[in-house]
Amino acid sequence: MTDPVDVVIIGGGPGGYTAAQRCAENGSSTVLVESGVLGGSCLNVGCIPSKAVIHVADRFGELGAGGELAAVGICATATLDLPAAMRWKDDVVGRLRNGVHHLLTRAGVRIINGRAQVVDGKTISVSTEAGEEMVVARNVVLATGSRPMELSHLPFGGKVISSTEALSLQQVPGRLAVVGAGYIGLELGTAFAKLGSNVTIVEATDQILPMYDAALVRPVAARLRALGIDVRLGTTASGAADRGLTIGVGDDTETIDADVVLVTVGRVPVLDGFGVESLDLTMAGRFLAIDEHCRTSMRGVYAIGDITGEPMLAHRAMAQAMVVADVLAGRPRVWDYRAVPAVCFTDPELLAVGMSPDEAKAAGVSTVVALQPFSANGRALTLARDDGFVRVVADSTSGRVLGIHAVGVGVSELAGAAATAIEMEMSVADLDLTMHAHPTLSESIHGAAAAAVDRLRKNA
Ligand code: FAD
Repeated sequence: MTDPVDVVIIGGGPGGYTAAQRCAENGSSTVLVESGVLGGSCLNVGCIPSKAVIHVADRFGELGAGGELAAVGICATATLDLPAAMRWKDDVVGRLRNGVHHLLTRAGVRIINGRAQVVDGKTISVSTEAGEEMVVARNVVLATGSRPMELSHLPFGGKVISSTEALSLQQVPGRLAVVGAGYIGLELGTAFAKLGSNVTIVEATDQILPMYDAALVRPVAARLRALGIDVRLGTTASGAADRGLTIGVGDDTETIDADVVLVTVGRVPVLDGFGVESLDLTMAGRFLAIDEHCRTSMRGVYAIGDITGEPMLAHRAMAQAMVVADVLAGRPRVWDYRAVPAVCFTDPELLAVGMSPDEAKAAGVSTVVALQPFSANGRALTLARDDGFVRVVADSTSGRVLGIHAVGVGVSELAGAAATAIEMEMSVADLDLTMHAHPTLSESIHGAAAAAVDRLRKNA
């Protein structure tokens, strides 16, 4: 048994590696235990590889007969080498993973490659290739992330795959059925449609992207139709058959052809199989309950990332990691973010930061809501995509920005500006008085804010 370290972190995803780097930089002796590869779900089987595959699909799709390039006078015939595209994607992932390793070692983090087992709130046993190692720590940070949710009637295996396998396919499936129209299913379903698959998306609720309001989702639904993707709403998948996938609405069932069935119905927090149950920590539903310092119900045990709740997003995990590291260093720091930005890299992209009009109404806040369509934005038109809009939700008394939402080409890059406006408690007048570069998509934030100011004046 070695001397106790200041902190041991279980899990080397965005939550865990960010916490480890910051803890070590803050002067804490830090051990990071990772059973797989550094970077976790996000870097290896999530955010990064999915965006790489989407990039390939977008470029390939643009070149196709009905693609955007034909509309601007460029005619080309493209062929796809999917294994080469996947090698490029793996190279991107590898470069980023090496970067994480470099940052951690430079900061002085001790990385143990092995599976952690919680012995008690201070002791972790790690099975490594070299044998069992005990780590005793003053503080434990749990960052074990999430895994794809499996349906009992559609277990993973054979032609039923999760997003992990989808991101390494070496052949474009002729017919792809996607179960679940959340952001992961839509991002991957759209990408494979552009790569040439005949795609059907099956969704149990009556809307794609059920987390977002109908107005925001409409341009994405229109684009799915334009891409020839068959979207079946209010429909459940009940089992994979030889020929395909059995789906149904109520008692009416049918079997649709599918060579591959991609199940994307959510993610499950990893809170089993490594002894954490023995700590008997307080739960919040299926997640670990934490306070504003990311403390669990046991002193000295912290939790961050996907195991702590929705939205399960990498930047939330990283922001929690910074909170924990600073708390452990004795700095006054709490989780007090006003908004967690969310981006769906669908086509068009969708951005949501802060309150939607419905959420504001439910919270009893009186609002003005103003919108600027991208059909009035010069940059969107020069990109040959004028679908979508930016919407600003503001408090009707103070003019404070409560939410910024957008759907349109490239709106993911507006996430920083939108989050800054809400975090800095800007008013729509502040946004209106800020000069926005021309021609950029960000001018539509300005346009929507100016319309909100106008409405506030009229209401005054
Ligand atoms: P994870 O990244 O899941 O990392 C947990 C790590 O813990 C893993 O490496 C695992 O091996 C390790 N571990 C688990 N148990 C043990 C143990 N007992 N011992 C040692 N190690 C252990 N988020 C975004 O913000 N933007 C996106 O665009 C986005 N796209 C996504 C696309 C897909 C297809 C998927 C699947 C996810 C996407 N996400 C995205 C979500 C994002 O990947 C997660 O929110 C993020 O990875 C959570 O980070 P984490 O640190 O909590 O856990």
